[in-house]
Amino acid sequence: MHETMIAQSLLAQISEEAAKQNAKPVAAKISCGKLNTVNDEVLCFAFEAIAEGTLCQGVKLEIEHKPLHAKCKICNSIFIIEFSNPQCEKCNGKEFELLPDAPLILEEIEFQTG
Ligand SMILES: [Zn+2]
Repeated sequence: MHETMIAQSLLAQISEEAAKQNAKPVAAKISCGKLNTVNDEVLCFAFEAIAEGTLCQGVKLEIEHKPLHAKCKICNSIFIIEFSNPQCEKCNGKEFELLPDAPLILEEIEFQTG
């Protein structure tokens, strides 16, 4: 499953960073594009399951979904696309090119202090 693979990759990254910092991770912030089919709940559940018994046990995942951008073919401006009203913010043009969706990345890890 997609989410399980992501969870495994996140676990590996967080564990590596935790080992480097010699600290216990408590939360992690992830971001991904709007078109990414990651299901937050499924990902959190998968992560919880594989993190059990590891240093990452109890780490809370926070997932931010980044908006999708498009570039207008008329005025070249880059804007956030709204699927309910897909047009350029500046010139209201409807000719545009979708920009690549943001990849799923681990933004930051919060460690236990004190
Ligand atoms: Zn435009």
